[in-house]
Amino acid sequence: MPTKTFIKSLFREELTDKLAGLDEPAYRTDQVLQWVYQKPTDSFDQMTNLPAALRQKLAASFELNAVHSLRIRHATDTTEKFLFQLHDHALIETVLIPATPGLTSQSDRHTVCVSTQVGCAFGCKFCASGLHGPKRNLNAGEIVDQVVTIHRLTKQRITNLVVMGMGEPLANYENMLRALKILNAPWALGIGARKITISTAGLVPGIQQLATEPMQFRLAISLHGATDEVRNRIMPINRKYPLKDLLAACEYYCSTKERMLTFEYMLIDGVNDTLEQAHKLGAMARRLRAKVNLIPYNPVEGLPWKRPDRDRCKMFQHTLKTHGIAATLRIEKGTDINAACGQLRLQHEGAA
Ligand code: SF4
Repeated sequence: MPTKTFIKSLFREELTDKLAGLDEPAYRTDQVLQWVYQKPTDSFDQMTNLPAALRQKLAASFELNAVHSLRIRHATDTTEKFLFQLHDHALIETVLIPATPGLTSQSDRHTVCVSTQVGCAFGCKFCASGLHGPKRNLNAGEIVDQVVTIHRLTKQRITNLVVMGMGEPLANYENMLRALKILNAPWALGIGARKITISTAGLVPGIQQLATEPMQFRLAISLHGATDEVRNRIMPINRKYPLKDLLAACEYYCSTKERMLTFEYMLIDGVNDTLEQAHKLGAMARRLRAKVNLIPYNPVEGLPWKRPDRDRCKMFQHTLKTHGIAATLRIEKGTDINAACGQLRLQHEGAA
């Protein structure tokens, strides 16, 4: 890893301090930040309104790019998946999801799904990211640069974030939070906290800690099972933090934040798609006033799980609605580009 500081992991005042250490006046901070975030460039040399001597000092002191785009896959619904390489050659994935699918229609909402770790320690049985275990946490600059690089390469203004890519965000709490505060800042990309959703597989202490943060992030729980029996089967984290504890943490989060919670529920054929699970999920969501996103499973090569047929998914959704739950059935975006978490990376590593 480079010994230079990743410039995108710094808060504005930290950059001012660093520039002062280089004998540069404070007004240079905003000039530099403009090039880093608002009209992003991948080279200090291109910061043309800065004196050449300053550009040299910046290049000697800071690392401007934390991620390098290796491959971009475009789906017909306009979802784009980026395979990024880090300085230590580790690979991560990031996805750009426009709100309006279609080749001709323009969307004014652009969501980026970021990764927070290389690999993952939690080993959910359906997930490609956890297949080879954990490698390391991303630093804040590596998280921020996923979004800035997509903004730079696509020229799209990024309006929403979901922290739902590779890794468990709450297991890399400090770096994740620093990155989100930077991405939220008006001097960086200014993405509203209410437009940022953090998704967790159920790390109870992290949910409790997040509940005490002043920022109004949205919280999504990757539930994928409405009983301990089902969750234990597919999500090992449930053995440490069973549903009773998870739901208590969710209740605490909702009471301190007064924010609505989302349950993400991936429908896997013959595993968690029974009507009994739907009724239990409905009761649980009602208690927490949560909405439910149903996602038909996106099969992963080498894993045995299958997607239920459309009618079964619809029936599950209908059952939730009988409990008065707002339940969406997600039209899968990006199935033709290996959009499920971790698949593109696995494919690339397999080919290497
Ligand atoms: S679903 Fe999330 S928490 Fe579970 S193994 Fe995959 S990346 Fe990790």
